[in-house]
Amino acid sequence: MKPLETDLHLHLDGSLSAKVVRQLAGQIGYDLEGQDIRKLISVGENCESLIDYLKCFDLPGRLLQTAEALELAAMDLTQRLAAQGLLLAEIRFAPQLHMKKGLTGQQVVEAVIRGMNRGLGSSSMKAGLLLCAMVNGPDRENEETFELAASYLGKGVVGVDIAGPEGLVPMSHFEPLFKGAYKNGIPFTIHAGETGNFENIIKAVHYGARRIGHGCAAIQSEVCMDLLKKEKITLEMCVVSNLQTRAVPSIKEHPLKAFYDRGIRVTYNTDNMTVSDTSLEKEAELIRRHMGFLPEDLVQMNRYALEGAFLENAEKEKIIAFFDKNNYNET
Ligand SMILES: [Zn+2]
Repeated sequence: MKPLETDLHLHLDGSLSAKVVRQLAGQIGYDLEGQDIRKLISVGENCESLIDYLKCFDLPGRLLQTAEALELAAMDLTQRLAAQGLLLAEIRFAPQLHMKKGLTGQQVVEAVIRGMNRGLGSSSMKAGLLLCAMVNGPDRENEETFELAASYLGKGVVGVDIAGPEGLVPMSHFEPLFKGAYKNGIPFTIHAGETGNFENIIKAVHYGARRIGHGCAAIQSEVCMDLLKKEKITLEMCVVSNLQTRAVPSIKEHPLKAFYDRGIRVTYNTDNMTVSDTSLEKEAELIRRHMGFLPEDLVQMNRYALEGAFLENAEKEKIIAFFDKNNYNET
């Protein structure tokens, strides 16, 4: 029994196909000098650290600087997700990283919305966009990203996030930003506790985050785990990525199953399909094999994902009903 799956944590720039990279490089005259594209955009077996991991975003960052490039990348990714039979995907990106050649924030967001809608075509998959502020970005740019989210909310954008090197700037610096989002009714998730700092998770929940990106560090604190359970926070966990960046040293030490057994709403996601060379299918297979999850646990995690999705409520109810009919009423 394979559940209908949902990916809540997926970065656009880390999920480009080699075909799109080749096409975009050709368009801007970027000389790949005979290099193997896969090696430039995927960490492969030899990832030693987060630094190695982040190098794989250099080329996509250079290529995604025009509306055409963004539209093509979003369309191609959405098509691939729909072809995998996903029920729902939330795709995230930081508009401010795509404005180096003169695009405005509006042009960036509209290009990605167009691409996503074209990619969805007539498929039954649902998709939404999350706009990411950057931990290492200027305050004004982050504020602009959240303003963009407010103006495109319900028009393709479903929420916001903050990504980038956690810890470089203290989480509390972003409190006003998230309090503002909360006040404006913009749903948000926060990359928090990817590695060592469970206090960031507690802070994120206090700012009003309904979901946490990664959240591995919660395992260090009973208080933090109790809070996640009590507040029904959804954890977007990305096991392959966590192992590659060394956020978690080994699969045996990955807290996904421990959280699940405590009743915390955990989900499994890809983070970066290309950089991590993964898919929801691969993630599911890995956690089933190495963590002792049963098929019904995977169904439960996908239901958590749907419940935690930032879709508007009416649409969410419909999609959950469809999911339940498919997963629980089988004869
Ligand atoms: Zn992420």
